[in-house]
Amino acid sequence: ITYADGIGWHDAKVEPYAPISLDPAAMVLHYGQAIFEGLKAYRQADGSIASFRVTANAARMNRSAERLAMPYLPPELFVKAITELVEVDNEWVPAAGGEDSLYLRPFAFAIEPALGVRPAKEYKFLVIASPAGAYFPRGVKPVNVWLSREYVRASPGGTGAAKFAGNYAASLVAQAHAAEQGCDQVVWLDAIERKYVEEMGGMNLYFVYGSGADARLVTPELSGSLLPGITRDSLLTLAKDSGLAVEERRISTDEWREKAASGEITEVFACGTAAVITPVGSVKDKDGEFTIADGEPGPITMALRDTLTGIQRGTFADTHGWMTTLRK
Ligand code: PMP
Repeated sequence: ITYADGIGWHDAKVEPYAPISLDPAAMVLHYGQAIFEGLKAYRQADGSIASFRVTANAARMNRSAERLAMPYLPPELFVKAITELVEVDNEWVPAAGGEDSLYLRPFAFAIEPALGVRPAKEYKFLVIASPAGAYFPRGVKPVNVWLSREYVRASPGGTGAAKFAGNYAASLVAQAHAAEQGCDQVVWLDAIERKYVEEMGGMNLYFVYGSGADARLVTPELSGSLLPGITRDSLLTLAKDSGLAVEERRISTDEWREKAASGEITEVFACGTAAVITPVGSVKDKDGEFTIADGEPGPITMALRDTLTGIQRGTFADTHGWMTTLRK
């Protein structure tokens, strides 16, 4: 779908996957107006195809657009684009080790050819799709994470709450640094004090305090510089449904280390569309390494994972109206 000032969004079409052409002066290549979304369409037991919280993705896309001075995309158009793509692309073969879902990547970028820093007047919105592979090839195995004090992902007033391409470009060197330390993922801290936990590369974080009937969840509050994950939001609801108390607040790396050592923090997991829920097994920074309990996936992590994937696959009741049938 193409956008031009004065005309709006127009010329929607589904085309075979192929390279696209861009003017060398296309503003996205110089000034970086590029945003995206990520969601999945799941094949249901009856053969129909349904997406999870597609309107939440459409809403977040518009919040990202607003932050990047890009045009509003009516949510109906977002859903229609996805529905029409899935209509054509409904016979995917699940990736090896992956689940039976189609990963959908809606994205928008500035195509107007112009040199000069200002919002572009022309954009493209595209959706591409690919069978979802195993995000962590080792399966539901705990990941080990690196607390990044050298680099920050986002700062107050910046673009951290937007799904903005540049945020990901800025994270690459930190991810490489984490890998050099033998870690799977980076955990980002707040930009000012480098003390409070924000999120993990591509996922939000949850901490389980206590166990059994006394268990409660803590997740970093939406500081303005972390991405408001749709999985994070869904888990707030599912936790409340199951009677688990949840706190959204700041949590420092000192608290994490101390309460993991005392056994008060019993489980830590990361959540996002791609990997759903992934346990965090151990944490490392320049001062050393510590594990979360015995380093194995915990019961609350796995129960929440089962509930969420059950709703997505249609085996659990969708009591919140999160699933949208894209194709019968
Ligand atoms: N944080 C970042 C930086 C992400 O890229 C993602 C993936 N979209 C998430 C968190 C998790 O968000 P969601 O649950 O909407 O996939």
